[in-house]
Amino acid sequence: MKTIYKDSVLAKKLIIGTVLCSSVITLILTCITLYTQYSRDINQLNQSEQIIKNSLLKSLSESVWDYDDKLIRLQLEGVLSQPYIVKTHLALVDGQKFSSGAIEHDWVKVYTFPIIHQHRDKQRELGTLTVTADLHDIYQELVNAAALTLLFNAIKTFAVMLFMLFLIDRLIGRHLVKIVANLEQVTPDAPPLPIQLKRSGPLKADDMDKLANAINAMQQRLFNAHQAERLASQERAQLQEKIINQNQQLAQLDRVFTMGEMATSLAHELNQPLASITGFADICKRFVGQDPINTAMVEKTLEKVSSEAIRASEIIRRTREFVRDRTPQRGSHKATDLVAESIAMLQDMATKNQVRIDFQTLSSSPSIDVDKVQLQQVLINLIRNAIEALKQRQHAEVKIRIEVINQIVIMHIADNGPGLAAKVMQNLFKPFITTKEQGMGVGLSICHSIIEAHGGNIMVTSEANKGACFSIQLPLSPNQENTSK
Ligand code: ADP
Repeated sequence: MKTIYKDSVLAKKLIIGTVLCSSVITLILTCITLYTQYSRDINQLNQSEQIIKNSLLKSLSESVWDYDDKLIRLQLEGVLSQPYIVKTHLALVDGQKFSSGAIEHDWVKVYTFPIIHQHRDKQRELGTLTVTADLHDIYQELVNAAALTLLFNAIKTFAVMLFMLFLIDRLIGRHLVKIVANLEQVTPDAPPLPIQLKRSGPLKADDMDKLANAINAMQQRLFNAHQAERLASQERAQLQEKIINQNQQLAQLDRVFTMGEMATSLAHELNQPLASITGFADICKRFVGQDPINTAMVEKTLEKVSSEAIRASEIIRRTREFVRDRTPQRGSHKATDLVAESIAMLQDMATKNQVRIDFQTLSSSPSIDVDKVQLQQVLINLIRNAIEALKQRQHAEVKIRIEVINQIVIMHIADNGPGLAAKVMQNLFKPFITTKEQGMGVGLSICHSIIEAHGGNIMVTSEANKGACFSIQLPLSPNQENTSK
């Protein structure tokens, strides 16, 4: 019983409901009982009235006519024997008055009868008889009956309520407490603890067992589903990691492939500082051979040799960095620097193919948080594709433009070539789609995944024989957001 009483809203509702319902029923029953009793008493009173009318009035009129004082008084007292009649009063027309009994309470009912005597076919009114009935006893009995009925019903209600509470606690309450305690311990990761209801004595399995079994089954299903979902999400995460790794390997392969393609350009680019070094070394040799040695010129020439050697080593560093298998590392980089370096790596290829690269540098370049090598890979892929598309075309030009709109840095790489082939447009950014004999068809798909991994977007517009334009959108570096508009 403790279980259901303690803080149980159910028990409170039950008590209030039972008391209310029982009170209403008790009230209705009591009213019916009291009304029946009241009708019975009033009936009795009416019977007394009839008796007076039918049997007493005639004999009383005889006694009055005979002026039998003693008999009149006797008859008036005889009326008092009728239930509830407490007083009789006879007022004769000659002024004589007879009274019997007394009125003790306020609740009374008064009956008045004329005393008429039949004499030689003539009726003569001799006086008036007033009979007073005391209703106090009737009402008192009603009040007593009401009090008793209410008391008995209250005791009955209380007893029934206690019994109901006991039954509900035994059949429902204690099981609910057990179910709640069990459910409070449920966690999605732990295997469910099945609810086992206490069953003792003659109580057999009932609806509560069905409920417990349903909850047990539901818990098991939820646990199984959660486990399956956890396994699936682990597998998804592993797959995702595998895809990322494969993408990185593919991107690295693409860079090696690109570098292979650009080997001649690279050799040509490297050749320039090497030729300069050879030239400056010859000049230096000449200055050293002079007498006296022109040390100032020797120093100046050696400085030039050194700076050309640095330029050559920078080309080699850049190339190694581009091809090296590495984990991406993001940092804040100026968009113009990234574009300029990418153009530098492709400049020789562009010159050989008579393609003009038009890049308008900005005075204050926006910064973007990117992996430098990955972003250069994207730019090189797009610019190289543009140059290749422009091969043997008149007025071939690649225009590169950078703008910032709403904190987004947009880099446009546009060419005036043939535009994208329908096959490429339909499978845009899907791997292994190429129109080139030696092409791998992975460049655009790698560009797409790199830009997406940086939280950006890559879009294309293309018109046949007018050209294609690739637009890369990347968020402006947070460091620069406050200063740039
Ligand atoms: P690949 O260069 O090895 O073919 P990509 O994925 O870089 O692989 O390019 C896929 C195809 O997209 C190219 O074969 C080419 O047909 C087309 N393409 C890419 N850029 C341009 C461009 N600027 N103009 C015309 N076609 C292009």
